[in-house]
Amino acid sequence: MKLNPMNMGALIALAAAINGPFAEANSPNPKPDNMPFTIDAKFPGGNIVVDKVAGDTVHLSPDLTGTLQPWFYWYFRVQGAGGRTLTFVFNKNYVGVRGPGVSLDEGLSWNWLGADAVKEGAFSYTFPAGTNAVRFSVGMPYVHANLERFLVKHRGRPDLHIDTLTKTPKGRDVMLLRVGNMKKKAPYAIAVTGRHHCCEMMASYVLEGVLEGALADDAAGRWLREHADFLFVPFMDTDGVEDGNQGKNRAPHDHNRDYIGTPIYREVAALKERLPAWAAGRPLVFLDLHNPALKTDIHEVVHFLEPEARDQAARLDKFTTFLERNQQGPLIYSQQHTMRIGTGYNSPKDGPSSRWAQALPNTILGVTLETPYANASGCEVNMDSAKEFGRDIAVALKDFLRDHSRAVVEKK
Ligand SMILES: [Zn+2]
Repeated sequence: MKLNPMNMGALIALAAAINGPFAEANSPNPKPDNMPFTIDAKFPGGNIVVDKVAGDTVHLSPDLTGTLQPWFYWYFRVQGAGGRTLTFVFNKNYVGVRGPGVSLDEGLSWNWLGADAVKEGAFSYTFPAGTNAVRFSVGMPYVHANLERFLVKHRGRPDLHIDTLTKTPKGRDVMLLRVGNMKKKAPYAIAVTGRHHCCEMMASYVLEGVLEGALADDAAGRWLREHADFLFVPFMDTDGVEDGNQGKNRAPHDHNRDYIGTPIYREVAALKERLPAWAAGRPLVFLDLHNPALKTDIHEVVHFLEPEARDQAARLDKFTTFLERNQQGPLIYSQQHTMRIGTGYNSPKDGPSSRWAQALPNTILGVTLETPYANASGCEVNMDSAKEFGRDIAVALKDFLRDHSRAVVEKK
């Protein structure tokens, strides 16, 4: 439905060949002409394929445009259904453990509908009478407008610089934010990226939390801005975020797997050039924020992926010790959940952004963080708790760098 202009025909053919649901997506007249309500995804981040509408039951699939294998991102709006109870039927793997995210204010705020409303991948919802539009999603969508709302509160601050990494293939700006004292170089550099997989929206609340921690008018925030310069690229796949793509396993490989050889994505090429130049040899912490798969096992646990280099692995343990000790928010990090190298899916293969960053000569810690979509060891992941977790990470960064700088002084 929404296609990257690059190789559009090839992508359609590829997706149609691989994805059953995509082929079904284009079946004619999936909805009856007299349907009293409408379903659409015509807004930033929107993604849905309506397969069939039969009375009050709607059969849906994620739009897998450009994706190499089935994935679960979807985000749609229903209008004109006030007072009605509708049942939405997905493949059972496409609804998370707390049910769908529901928004009654056009995506400004979200709540989980709850597991009780879900049965075998289908959920039912009674639309309040008089409701105009209700949005549903596999998560709690976060697009460029969310970040804009956050930045409005901080505009004009001398320690926040809003810049552009590059332009996307569709001509959008890829936002780059710097936080710190713009008049002098701090001894440390901290880079934080998000949405290498554009569907992973819950990671954006964590990123906003780190950003808020970096800007905070408290002891940790002031220490960080004095001792570190931050660089944030919140939407590495900006077109994918706005167009509502899956992005994970994008053909021929996704943005996070574009760090070997010559990048095919201009955003990755730009970051590979910009980040080392900006860090300019200073000790660098690189943090890439993700969400794992939708549910089960490790996918419902917050976990860092241990770096391969022993010194960086030891520093991650130090960092997570501080995080464990001082965390304030409801999402709890437990060091036992760090995915050790060579275990789970943390294989020492080249490709992801964090591995590229780990290999830079000045990197002291390069790491990927996976925050679950909805459930983290029994705690609810939502807009607030994910953001609070980001704040906790910012404080742990302060503890970690303060400890690191003391160790450097003692060595001298
Ligand atoms: Zn990811």
